[in-house]
Amino acid sequence: MTARHSLHCLVTGANRGIGLEFTRQLLARGDRVTATCRHPGRATALNALAGEHPGRLHVLPLDITEAKSHAELVRELPLVGGGIDLLVNNAGVLHSGERFGQLTAGNFEDSFRTNAVGPLLLTQALAPHFVTGAKVVNLSSVLGSIGSVDGFHTPSYAVSKAALNMVTALLAQALAERGATVLAFHPGWVMTDMGGDGAQLPAGDAVAAMLRVVDGATPTDSGRFLNRHGEPVPW
Ligand code: NDP
Repeated sequence: MTARHSLHCLVTGANRGIGLEFTRQLLARGDRVTATCRHPGRATALNALAGEHPGRLHVLPLDITEAKSHAELVRELPLVGGGIDLLVNNAGVLHSGERFGQLTAGNFEDSFRTNAVGPLLLTQALAPHFVTGAKVVNLSSVLGSIGSVDGFHTPSYAVSKAALNMVTALLAQALAERGATVLAFHPGWVMTDMGGDGAQLPAGDAVAAMLRVVDGATPTDSGRFLNRHGEPVPW
């Protein structure tokens, strides 16, 4: 049996929740991870992982909403070394408690910048560093599925994730000639700070399932919106 080629993966929002779990599982299977977060100095769990996997985890600062921060990350990449095999656009924000009649622009602007425009512009900035056949995973949500709407829930989040789904479809087009595979995922209702009360799915289970789908995905799957089991979610 030949040894599996070790991948270079870049994860956003890697300090907690689903992003931390992606980082943990990718390291555990032998991959190299550039783990990004807003405040590396405060990322206790992430920095502990660096000690357990010397030389395979690099923690770098990134605010997904700031173009300057994208450029600084790109400047640091040669120090990490190697093209990017897998980009996980995981960082996201959900403003809860929104009600029709009291909506204002602020939450929409923040959600749109963080959940949709940020992943698009970061992917654009990193694309020159992608290997041929790279994979891009966008953490979307069924709340951004227009075909699954069943109430007036989290509108700024829902609108921004619907936009992220279009970002996924457009990136699949933009990156097709490089043989890239771009996927949007609904991970399930996951036990994290964002998942909150009621979530029952451990982050470890959600990430393990998504990685199985990512590993099996090919360019013919590019631009699809899937649940963690690899089944299509309505747009
Ligand atoms: P958490 O709220 O637990 O974590 C969110 C992560 O995003 C944190 O690391 C946070 O960093 C980071 N982040 C937020 N804003 C920025 C920014 N401007 N720049 C860089 N990083 C930022 O969420 P989850 O782990 O639950 O969610 C991860 C992804 O999965 C999100 O995109 C979410 O929408 C999606 N998702 C989650 C579901 C769930 O049930 N949990 C369901 C469906 C989708 P910081 O610590 O600095 O705030």
